[in-house]
Amino acid sequence: MQHYTMFIDGEHHEPTGGEWFTTDDPYRGAPWAEVAKGNAHDVDAAVQAAERALRTGPWSEFTASQRGALLRNLGDVIADNARQLAETEVRDNGKLFTEMHGQLQYVPQWFYYYGGLADKVEGTVVPMDKKGFFTYTAKEPAGVVAVITPWNSPLLLLAWKLAPALAAGCTVVIKPSEFTSASTIELARLFHEAGLPPGVVNVVTGFGGDVGSALVEHPLVRKISFTGSDATGRRINESAARDFKHVSLELGGKSPNIVFADADLDAAVNGVVSGIFAATGQTCIAGSRLLVQDSIHDEVVRAVVDLAGSARMGDPMDESTQVGPITTPTQHAKVLDYIDIAQSEGAQLALGGKVASGPECGSGWFVEPTIFTGVSNDMRIAQEEVFGPVLAVIPFHDEQEAAALANDSRYGLGAGVWTGDIGRAFRMSERIRSGTVWVNTYRAVSYLAPFGGVKDSGIGRENGIGAIHEYLEDKTVWINTEAPTANPFVMR
Ligand code: NAD
Repeated sequence: MQHYTMFIDGEHHEPTGGEWFTTDDPYRGAPWAEVAKGNAHDVDAAVQAAERALRTGPWSEFTASQRGALLRNLGDVIADNARQLAETEVRDNGKLFTEMHGQLQYVPQWFYYYGGLADKVEGTVVPMDKKGFFTYTAKEPAGVVAVITPWNSPLLLLAWKLAPALAAGCTVVIKPSEFTSASTIELARLFHEAGLPPGVVNVVTGFGGDVGSALVEHPLVRKISFTGSDATGRRINESAARDFKHVSLELGGKSPNIVFADADLDAAVNGVVSGIFAATGQTCIAGSRLLVQDSIHDEVVRAVVDLAGSARMGDPMDESTQVGPITTPTQHAKVLDYIDIAQSEGAQLALGGKVASGPECGSGWFVEPTIFTGVSNDMRIAQEEVFGPVLAVIPFHDEQEAAALANDSRYGLGAGVWTGDIGRAFRMSERIRSGTVWVNTYRAVSYLAPFGGVKDSGIGRENGIGAIHEYLEDKTVWINTEAPTANPFVMR
């Protein structure tokens, strides 16, 4: 069994409580590593280290250009270790090696981009309405940032937060998911090689209820950047509000993939299948509702069922595998529960619906790609996030109905529109209330393009130039350029 300690103030850190927990390999259905179980003392040590690094440590002396250079080093170091980090992620979350390796090869771009942006953030000189003042704004780091990540794409989603936070000059304490802590610790072991001073980035491992909440509640944490479920996001938001902390919350979704009769149907079917069954549905932007125009309903369902039914399940490390296991037994049970719920609500099973357990599935937690037709949008299978390989198909008649169904959700993260009509593409993009709309494509993301949700899908945006401002505060400085104030009772 491998052994993963925490990483605090530039050093490996054993858990002060002396406790460890195991992390499982979802394909083998068995533990493969032991991870330090942190507690509130470890959190305090990490936050204090981050605060020291921010206020008095070498980090406070770094110019923005030096921070940028360091971020680019970190990008290079990640690029050199992408394969190893991806293999670790696959062992922890069971997602396909091809996907995790693709992500890890892409992650350095976040460090190059925000490294380049670090010294291009400028304050302003305020054009003043009063004589005798020179007034300017400076951008300052928000402070110590708590970064809390989920299990589905640990290092990609970490990079979306870590790169802009460091570019802004903040210091960071990371709490990775208890199911996938290993790759974050392996990344921490590379910080020294990249030249990151001690205390700038710290990692505390453990469970949400103790380590996560202690981190969120720590008085020296000024900003919380969280990706995870909306239930946890709500708790974090309530706690942060009590202490007036800034938050960015990237939460769940029930994203519609909308196919019109005028679309290139082959492309649409590929987009629908990859939108929900790639990553075994374990992605916040899973296109878990297929809204399909009634005139092509049967044709599209047939094609989607055929393609999804032919998907090869198996070892996620095997590059020919197309659908891997579910990450945890709890999540596996939750997906199967939703399959029962859908059937009890009257949805018709068109594909799958069972545990997959052939020899190719090892001892893993597999569920067959599952498709329900005859779904109405008020069923739980259409309203609640399953986070698994389950697609709900809902027919619509026209644009207006498609937009109404798409928006009839408490979530608003992503949406796909498949159409050959450019005017319709614009109209639908305008009508749909979500953070992202993809037209004739699905699931594309980039360090350049803002990403986030509306409604219960979250607060704030990651990626793109704007994301660095999530980690900055404006400071306004007034300089009196004239004679000292003569009358203390008159405000100029
Ligand atoms: P989760 O909310 O259970 O856990 C996320 C993280 O929060 C973990 O590190 C966990 O330990 C921590 N946590 C749990 N309770 C906490 C508490 N009280 N205080 C502080 N931290 C706490 O989510 P998950 O199951 O790991 O991830 C799946 C969810 O994440 C899905 O809902 C999915 O849609 C969402 N997600 C969203 C995005 C996005 O960018 N919008 C991306 C990926 C996943």
